[in-house]
Amino acid sequence: MTIAESLLSVRNDLERKLREMLGIPVFLAELDAFALPCGCSGATINIRGLRVDDVDVFEEHILKFIDESAEKMEMDPFFVFARLIPGTAEIASLNIRMLCDSCYQEFGRIEGKQPRPDIYVLRTA
Ligand SMILES: [Zn+2]
Repeated sequence: MTIAESLLSVRNDLERKLREMLGIPVFLAELDAFALPCGCSGATINIRGLRVDDVDVFEEHILKFIDESAEKMEMDPFFVFARLIPGTAEIASLNIRMLCDSCYQEFGRIEGKQPRPDIYVLRTA
C-alpha cells in the first residue's frame, strides 16, 4: 500500500469507527501527515462534529482507534492531543505527534489534561 492509499484507508476507517461508537455524524474533513523543521512528525486529523465532552467520556476508545490508525500509518502515537476551536468546546483536530528531542523536553513538562485552553491532552510520553 502506498502512503496515499494508507492515509485514505485510515481516514475512512477512523470516521466510520467514530460514527459507530459516538452515534453522531462526525466528519473527518482532512487527514494530513506532516514533518516539521524541528524534527517532529505525525498526523493531523481535522474533524467536525466532535466536542471536548465526547473526548472526555470516550477517551479510551478514541485512543484505541488512534493507535490502530497510527499503526497503519507506521507512526508511534506517544503524544496524542486534541486542538479546540478557541473559545468553544468544539474539537478542530486530533493530533498524533512523534516528538523530536527538543519538543520532548517541552511537552514532557505538560501537566494535566488542558495545559492550555485550546489543547486537550489524551496521552503524553
Ligand atoms: Zn519538534
